Amino acid sequence: MTLSDFPRYPLTFGPSPVHPLPRLTAHLGGAAIWAKREDCNSGLAYGGNKTRKLEYLVPDAIAQGADTLVSIGGYQSNHTRQVAAVAARLGMQAVLVQEKWVDWPDSVNDRVGNILLSRIMGAEVRIDPAGFGIGFKDSWKQALDDVTARGGTPYAIPAGASDHRLGGLGFARWAQEVADQERELDVFFDTVVVCSVTGSTHAGMIAGFAALEQAGGRPRRVIGIDASARLDETRDQVARIARSTASLVGLQRDLRDDEIVVLPGWAGERYGIPVDSTLHAIKLTGQLEGMIIDPVYEGKSMAGLIDLVTGGDIPKDSTVLYAHLGGQPALNAYSSLFTHADALPL
Ligand code: PLP
Repeated sequence: MTLSDFPRYPLTFGPSPVHPLPRLTAHLGGAAIWAKREDCNSGLAYGGNKTRKLEYLVPDAIAQGADTLVSIGGYQSNHTRQVAAVAARLGMQAVLVQEKWVDWPDSVNDRVGNILLSRIMGAEVRIDPAGFGIGFKDSWKQALDDVTARGGTPYAIPAGASDHRLGGLGFARWAQEVADQERELDVFFDTVVVCSVTGSTHAGMIAGFAALEQAGGRPRRVIGIDASARLDETRDQVARIARSTASLVGLQRDLRDDEIVVLPGWAGERYGIPVDSTLHAIKLTGQLEGMIIDPVYEGKSMAGLIDLVTGGDIPKDSTVLYAHLGGQPALNAYSSLFTHADALPL
Protein backbone atom coordinates (compact mmCIF):
# COMPACT_ATOMS: atom_id res chain seq x y z
CA MET A 1 0.00 0.00 0.00
CA THR A 2 1.17 3.55 -0.68
CA LEU A 3 -0.21 7.01 -0.03
CA SER A 4 -1.85 7.18 -3.45
CA ASP A 5 -4.10 4.23 -2.51
CA PHE A 6 -5.97 6.46 -0.06
CA PRO A 7 -8.76 8.68 -1.40
CA ARG A 8 -8.23 12.41 -0.82
CA TYR A 9 -10.90 15.11 -0.87
CA PRO A 10 -9.14 18.36 -1.89
CA LEU A 11 -9.73 21.16 0.60
CA THR A 12 -6.52 23.13 0.01
CA PHE A 13 -5.62 25.48 -2.83
CA GLY A 14 -2.88 23.09 -3.98
CA PRO A 15 0.73 23.01 -2.82
CA SER A 16 1.21 25.52 0.00
CA PRO A 17 3.69 28.35 -0.65
CA VAL A 18 7.38 27.87 0.17
CA HIS A 19 9.58 30.96 0.45
CA PRO A 20 12.82 32.14 2.08
CA LEU A 21 12.91 34.31 5.21
CA PRO A 22 15.95 36.42 4.27
CA ARG A 23 15.90 39.00 7.07
CA LEU A 24 15.43 36.35 9.78
CA THR A 25 18.25 34.37 8.19
CA ALA A 26 20.56 37.43 8.23
CA HIS A 27 19.56 38.31 11.78
CA LEU A 28 20.38 34.83 13.07
CA GLY A 29 23.61 34.78 11.02
CA GLY A 30 22.71 31.61 9.03
CA ALA A 31 21.45 28.81 8.63
CA ALA A 32 19.22 29.65 5.66
CA ILE A 33 15.63 29.72 6.93
CA TRP A 34 12.61 29.11 4.70
CA ALA A 35 8.92 28.72 5.55
CA LYS A 36 6.17 26.51 4.13
CA ARG A 37 2.88 28.22 4.75
CA GLU A 38 -0.02 26.06 5.94
CA ASP A 39 -1.47 29.27 7.37
CA CYS A 40 -2.54 30.22 3.85
CA ASN A 41 -3.10 26.76 2.35
CA SER A 42 -6.86 27.00 1.85
CA GLY A 43 -9.82 29.30 1.35
CA LEU A 44 -11.70 27.51 4.12
CA ALA A 45 -11.68 29.78 7.17
CA TYR A 46 -7.97 30.61 6.92
CA GLY A 47 -6.90 26.97 6.55
CA GLY A 48 -4.10 25.46 8.62
CA ASN A 49 -2.60 22.06 9.31
CA LYS A 50 -5.92 20.36 10.12
CA THR A 51 -7.36 21.25 6.72
CA ARG A 52 -4.63 19.10 5.18
CA LYS A 53 -5.25 16.22 7.58
CA LEU A 54 -9.01 16.40 6.95
CA GLU A 55 -8.47 15.84 3.22
CA TYR A 56 -7.94 12.17 4.12
CA LEU A 57 -10.70 11.87 6.75
CA VAL A 58 -13.47 13.38 4.62
CA PRO A 59 -13.69 10.50 2.08
CA ASP A 60 -14.06 8.11 5.05
CA ALA A 61 -16.81 10.30 6.56
CA ILE A 62 -18.65 10.40 3.24
CA ALA A 63 -18.26 6.63 2.72
CA GLN A 64 -19.78 6.06 6.18
CA GLY A 65 -22.81 8.19 5.28
CA ALA A 66 -22.01 10.74 7.98
CA ASP A 67 -23.98 13.99 8.14
CA THR A 68 -22.33 15.50 11.23
CA LEU A 69 -18.65 15.98 12.06
CA VAL A 70 -18.07 15.76 15.83
CA SER A 71 -14.82 16.99 17.30
CA ILE A 72 -13.14 18.48 20.35
CA GLY A 73 -10.55 21.08 21.31
CA GLY A 74 -9.91 24.10 23.50
CA TYR A 75 -11.97 27.32 23.32
CA GLN A 76 -9.41 28.68 20.87
CA SER A 77 -8.89 25.41 18.98
CA ASN A 78 -7.75 25.98 15.40
CA HIS A 79 -8.69 22.38 14.70
CA THR A 80 -12.38 22.71 15.57
CA ARG A 81 -12.57 25.92 13.49
CA GLN A 82 -11.25 23.99 10.50
CA VAL A 83 -13.73 21.15 11.16
CA ALA A 84 -16.55 23.73 11.17
CA ALA A 85 -15.34 25.10 7.83
CA VAL A 86 -15.06 21.66 6.26
CA ALA A 87 -18.55 20.71 7.50
CA ALA A 88 -19.92 23.89 5.94
CA ARG A 89 -18.20 23.15 2.64
CA LEU A 90 -19.57 19.58 2.62
CA GLY A 91 -23.10 20.62 3.61
CA MET A 92 -22.77 18.72 6.89
CA GLN A 93 -23.36 19.77 10.52
CA ALA A 94 -20.56 20.24 13.02
CA VAL A 95 -20.80 19.60 16.76
CA LEU A 96 -17.74 20.92 18.59
CA VAL A 97 -16.89 20.32 22.24
CA GLN A 98 -14.80 23.32 23.32
CA GLU A 99 -13.02 22.76 26.60
CA LYS A 100 -11.23 25.20 28.87
CA TRP A 101 -7.79 23.91 27.87
CA VAL A 102 -6.10 27.17 28.77
CA ASP A 103 -6.63 29.14 31.95
CA TRP A 104 -6.01 32.44 30.25
CA PRO A 105 -7.41 35.63 31.82
CA ASP A 106 -8.84 37.18 28.69
CA SER A 107 -12.49 38.04 29.13
CA VAL A 108 -13.28 37.34 25.48
CA ASN A 109 -11.34 34.04 25.26
CA ASP A 110 -14.55 32.11 24.58
CA ARG A 111 -15.94 34.70 22.15
CA VAL A 112 -13.30 35.91 19.68
CA GLY A 113 -10.91 34.30 17.24
CA ASN A 114 -11.45 30.65 16.41
CA ILE A 115 -14.63 30.10 18.40
CA LEU A 116 -16.24 33.18 16.84
CA LEU A 117 -15.42 31.83 13.37
CA SER A 118 -16.91 28.41 14.21
CA ARG A 119 -20.12 30.07 15.34
CA ILE A 120 -20.28 32.13 12.14
CA MET A 121 -19.99 28.91 10.16
CA GLY A 122 -23.01 27.43 11.96
CA ALA A 123 -21.30 24.87 14.17
CA GLU A 124 -22.99 23.73 17.38
CA VAL A 125 -20.43 24.90 19.92
CA ARG A 126 -20.58 23.18 23.31
CA ILE A 127 -18.59 24.97 25.98
CA ASP A 128 -17.19 22.52 28.56
CA PRO A 129 -15.14 23.40 31.68
CA ALA A 130 -12.72 20.41 31.35
CA GLY A 131 -8.98 21.13 31.15
CA PHE A 132 -6.28 20.27 28.61
CA GLY A 133 -5.89 16.68 27.45
CA ILE A 134 -5.42 15.08 24.07
CA GLY A 135 -7.13 11.79 24.97
CA PHE A 136 -10.73 10.65 24.56
CA LYS A 137 -13.20 12.57 26.69
CA ASP A 138 -16.72 11.74 27.96
CA SER A 139 -18.08 15.07 26.68
CA TRP A 140 -17.04 14.06 23.16
CA LYS A 141 -18.67 10.62 23.50
CA GLN A 142 -21.79 12.41 24.76
CA ALA A 143 -21.79 14.66 21.69
CA LEU A 144 -21.55 11.60 19.43
CA ASP A 145 -24.43 9.90 21.29
CA ASP A 146 -26.55 13.06 21.09
CA VAL A 147 -26.16 13.24 17.31
CA THR A 148 -27.22 9.59 16.99
CA ALA A 149 -30.15 10.10 19.39
CA ARG A 150 -31.53 12.90 17.23
CA GLY A 151 -31.34 10.71 14.10
CA GLY A 152 -28.05 11.95 12.68
CA THR A 153 -24.96 10.01 11.61
CA PRO A 154 -21.91 11.35 13.41
CA TYR A 155 -18.32 11.08 12.25
CA ALA A 156 -15.84 11.16 15.13
CA ILE A 157 -12.75 13.31 14.70
CA PRO A 158 -10.44 13.25 17.73
CA ALA A 159 -8.51 16.27 19.03
CA GLY A 160 -6.29 17.62 16.28
CA ALA A 161 -7.51 14.82 13.93
CA SER A 162 -4.52 12.95 15.34
CA ASP A 163 -5.52 9.75 17.11
CA HIS A 164 -7.28 8.47 14.00
CA ARG A 165 -6.14 5.76 11.57
CA LEU A 166 -5.88 8.28 8.72
CA GLY A 167 -4.67 11.26 10.80
CA GLY A 168 -1.02 11.10 9.69
CA LEU A 169 -1.63 10.86 5.95
CA GLY A 170 -2.06 14.58 5.29
CA PHE A 171 1.47 15.34 6.42
CA ALA A 172 2.95 12.24 4.81
CA ARG A 173 1.69 13.87 1.62
CA TRP A 174 3.19 17.20 2.77
CA ALA A 175 6.60 15.48 2.71
CA GLN A 176 6.07 14.49 -0.93
CA GLU A 177 4.98 18.04 -1.72
CA VAL A 178 8.18 19.38 -0.14
CA ALA A 179 10.27 17.05 -2.30
CA ASP A 180 8.43 18.26 -5.44
CA GLN A 181 8.96 21.90 -4.45
CA GLU A 182 12.63 21.26 -3.76
CA ARG A 183 13.05 20.04 -7.32
CA GLU A 184 11.28 23.13 -8.69
CA LEU A 185 13.24 25.54 -6.47
CA ASP A 186 16.57 23.70 -6.69
CA VAL A 187 16.98 23.63 -2.92
CA PHE A 188 17.25 20.85 -0.31
CA PHE A 189 15.92 21.28 3.22
CA ASP A 190 18.20 19.19 5.43
CA THR A 191 16.24 20.19 8.55
CA VAL A 192 12.51 20.63 9.11
CA VAL A 193 11.21 22.33 12.27
CA VAL A 194 7.61 21.67 13.31
CA CYS A 195 5.41 22.33 16.32
CA SER A 196 3.98 19.21 17.99
CA VAL A 197 1.01 18.83 20.34
CA THR A 198 -1.52 16.18 19.33
CA GLY A 199 1.20 14.69 17.17
CA SER A 200 -0.06 13.69 13.74
CA THR A 201 1.44 16.66 11.87
CA HIS A 202 4.94 15.78 13.00
CA ALA A 203 4.25 12.03 12.82
CA GLY A 204 2.98 12.25 9.26
CA MET A 205 6.11 14.15 8.22
CA ILE A 206 8.38 11.53 9.81
CA ALA A 207 6.57 8.73 7.98
CA GLY A 208 6.44 10.65 4.71
CA PHE A 209 10.12 11.59 4.69
CA ALA A 210 11.12 8.03 5.67
CA ALA A 211 9.12 6.71 2.70
CA LEU A 212 10.85 9.23 0.40
CA GLU A 213 14.23 8.13 1.71
CA GLN A 214 13.28 4.50 1.05
CA ALA A 215 12.57 5.55 -2.56
CA GLY A 216 16.10 6.99 -2.86
CA GLY A 217 15.71 10.46 -1.32
CA ARG A 218 18.37 12.11 0.85
CA PRO A 219 18.01 11.78 4.63
CA ARG A 220 17.06 14.84 6.65
CA ARG A 221 16.27 15.82 10.25
CA VAL A 222 12.68 16.46 11.30
CA ILE A 223 12.73 18.31 14.62
CA GLY A 224 9.49 18.51 16.59
CA ILE A 225 9.20 21.29 19.14
CA ASP A 226 6.85 20.41 21.99
CA ALA A 227 4.13 22.96 22.73
CA SER A 228 2.02 20.69 24.95
CA ALA A 229 4.23 20.93 28.07
CA ARG A 230 3.45 17.21 28.43
CA LEU A 231 6.48 15.88 26.66
CA ASP A 232 6.15 12.15 27.37
CA GLU A 233 2.53 12.02 26.25
CA THR A 234 3.26 13.94 23.06
CA ARG A 235 6.39 11.94 22.25
CA ASP A 236 4.48 8.63 22.73
CA GLN A 237 1.66 9.84 20.53
CA VAL A 238 4.06 11.04 17.79
CA ALA A 239 5.90 7.70 17.86
CA ARG A 240 2.69 5.67 17.71
CA ILE A 241 1.15 7.71 14.86
CA ALA A 242 4.44 7.86 12.94
CA ARG A 243 4.74 4.07 13.06
CA SER A 244 1.13 3.41 12.07
CA THR A 245 1.29 5.99 9.27
CA ALA A 246 4.62 4.55 8.07
CA SER A 247 3.01 1.16 7.62
CA LEU A 248 0.07 2.75 5.74
CA VAL A 249 2.41 4.47 3.28
CA GLY A 250 4.47 1.34 2.66
CA LEU A 251 7.61 1.85 4.73
CA GLN A 252 9.28 -1.55 4.83
CA ARG A 253 11.20 -1.07 8.08
CA ASP A 254 10.49 0.03 11.61
CA LEU A 255 11.17 3.67 12.39
CA ARG A 256 14.19 4.13 14.61
CA ASP A 257 13.72 5.97 17.91
CA ASP A 258 16.26 8.59 16.80
CA GLU A 259 13.94 9.54 13.92
CA ILE A 260 11.29 10.62 16.45
CA VAL A 261 12.64 13.83 17.94
CA VAL A 262 10.35 15.95 20.13
CA LEU A 263 12.33 18.59 21.97
CA PRO A 264 11.32 20.24 25.25
CA GLY A 265 12.43 23.72 26.25
CA TRP A 266 10.03 26.19 24.63
CA ALA A 267 6.55 25.13 25.82
CA GLY A 268 6.81 26.83 29.19
CA GLU A 269 4.93 25.32 32.10
CA ARG A 270 1.55 24.90 30.48
CA TYR A 271 -0.09 24.39 27.11
CA GLY A 272 -1.46 27.63 25.72
CA ILE A 273 0.50 29.99 27.96
CA PRO A 274 3.22 31.90 26.12
CA VAL A 275 6.58 32.52 27.80
CA ASP A 276 9.21 35.19 27.11
CA SER A 277 10.82 33.22 24.28
CA THR A 278 7.39 32.82 22.63
CA LEU A 279 6.69 36.55 22.70
CA HIS A 280 10.17 37.37 21.45
CA ALA A 281 9.76 34.92 18.55
CA ILE A 282 6.37 36.40 17.63
CA LYS A 283 7.71 39.97 17.60
CA LEU A 284 10.96 39.07 15.85
CA THR A 285 9.18 37.18 13.07
CA GLY A 286 6.61 39.93 12.66
CA GLN A 287 9.17 42.74 12.63
CA LEU A 288 11.71 41.06 10.35
CA GLU A 289 9.42 39.26 7.93
CA GLY A 290 5.85 40.50 8.36
CA MET A 291 5.00 36.87 9.09
CA ILE A 292 2.45 36.43 11.87
CA ILE A 293 2.68 33.54 14.31
CA ASP A 294 0.59 32.70 17.38
CA PRO A 295 1.31 32.39 21.13
CA VAL A 296 0.07 28.79 21.54
CA TYR A 297 1.91 26.86 18.83
CA GLU A 298 4.01 28.57 16.19
CA GLY A 299 5.54 31.14 18.55
CA LYS A 300 6.92 28.20 20.53
CA SER A 301 8.30 26.29 17.54
CA MET A 302 9.85 29.49 16.16
CA ALA A 303 11.46 30.13 19.56
CA GLY A 304 12.93 26.64 19.31
CA LEU A 305 14.23 27.28 15.79
CA ILE A 306 15.84 30.56 16.86
CA ASP A 307 17.67 28.93 19.78
CA LEU A 308 18.72 25.84 17.82
CA VAL A 309 20.20 28.03 15.08
CA THR A 310 21.89 30.55 17.38
CA GLY A 311 23.16 27.76 19.67
CA GLY A 312 24.68 25.87 16.75
CA ASP A 313 22.59 22.66 17.09
CA ILE A 314 21.41 23.50 13.60
CA PRO A 315 24.67 24.31 11.77
CA LYS A 316 25.25 27.53 9.84
CA ASP A 317 25.41 25.72 6.50
CA SER A 318 21.98 24.10 7.02
CA THR A 319 18.93 24.92 4.97
CA VAL A 320 15.95 24.83 7.31
CA LEU A 321 12.25 24.57 6.50
CA TYR A 322 9.99 26.04 9.17
CA ALA A 323 6.53 24.49 8.94
CA HIS A 324 4.10 27.34 9.60
CA LEU A 325 0.98 25.43 10.62
CA GLY A 326 -1.45 28.36 10.96
CA GLY A 327 -3.18 29.42 14.16
CA GLN A 328 -3.28 33.21 13.92
CA PRO A 329 -7.00 33.64 14.80
CA ALA A 330 -6.18 32.76 18.44
CA LEU A 331 -4.10 35.96 18.67
CA ASN A 332 -7.38 37.81 19.24
CA ALA A 333 -7.75 36.10 22.63
CA TYR A 334 -4.25 37.27 23.65
CA SER A 335 -4.70 40.99 23.06
CA SER A 336 -3.43 41.89 26.55
CA LEU A 337 0.06 40.79 25.51
CA PHE A 338 0.25 43.38 22.76
CA THR A 339 -1.18 46.63 24.08
CA HIS A 340 1.92 48.71 23.19
CA ALA A 341 4.19 48.90 20.18
CA ASP A 342 7.42 47.12 21.02
CA ALA A 343 10.01 47.66 18.31
CA LEU A 344 12.94 45.33 18.92
CA PRO A 345 16.49 46.69 18.50
CA LEU A 346 17.21 45.03 15.14
N1 PLP B 1 0.26 24.60 15.09
C1 PLP B 1 -1.03 24.96 15.05
C2 PLP B 1 -1.37 26.34 14.56
C3 PLP B 1 -2.04 24.09 15.48
O1 PLP B 1 -3.32 24.47 15.43
C4 PLP B 1 -1.67 22.81 15.96
C5 PLP B 1 -2.72 21.93 16.48
O2 PLP B 1 -2.66 21.29 17.52
C6 PLP B 1 -0.31 22.46 15.96
C7 PLP B 1 0.62 23.38 15.52
C8 PLP B 1 0.17 21.13 16.43
O3 PLP B 1 -0.16 20.12 15.51
P1 PLP B 1 -0.49 18.67 16.03
O4 PLP B 1 -1.65 18.79 16.96
O5 PLP B 1 -0.76 17.86 14.81
O6 PLP B 1 0.72 18.19 16.79
